[in-house]
Amino acid sequence: MPQNCPRCGKMFSREDSPICKDCVKAEAEKFEEVRLFVKENPLSSAQEVSETCGVSVKRLLHYVREGKLEIATGLEGMINCSKCGRPIKNGRMCDRCAKGTASALEGIMAVNKAQAEAKKNTTGMFTNR
Ligand SMILES: [Zn+2]
Ligand SMILES: [Zn+2]
Repeated sequence: MPQNCPRCGKMFSREDSPICKDCVKAEAEKFEEVRLFVKENPLSSAQEVSETCGVSVKRLLHYVREGKLEIATGLEGMINCSKCGRPIKNGRMCDRCAKGTASALEGIMAVNKAQAEAKKNTTGMFTNR
C-alpha cells in the first residue's frame, strides 16, 4: 500500500523499510560520509563531525547507539549503559557489561579481595613490629 515517506513526503510503497528508497540511499550515503570523516579524523568531537558532515548530533548519537560509529568526544553523558546505567561513549553497554563480567558476584568478589588485602596489610604491619 503506497504511503508518504516520513522524511521527504514522497509517495512510496512500504516494503521492508519505513522510509522510501531514495531516503534509504541518501541515508546510507550520509552515513558513509560520516564514517569516512570519523575514520580520517578519529579525534573529532561529535560537534565537529556534525558541522562538517551536516548531520545532527542526535543522528550521530543514533549511529553510536547502534554501534555503527565510534566518536571520540562530545557525546559524554548522552549515552548510558543499557544494563547498569553507567555513562558510556559508544554502543549500548559499558565494557564490563558487554563482556558480561559485571555480575553481582564479581562485585562481591572484588570487595572480598580488597578486604583480604587490607587484612593482609594490617597483619604485615603487626608482624613487622
Ligand atoms: Zn523519502
Ligand atoms: Zn554497564
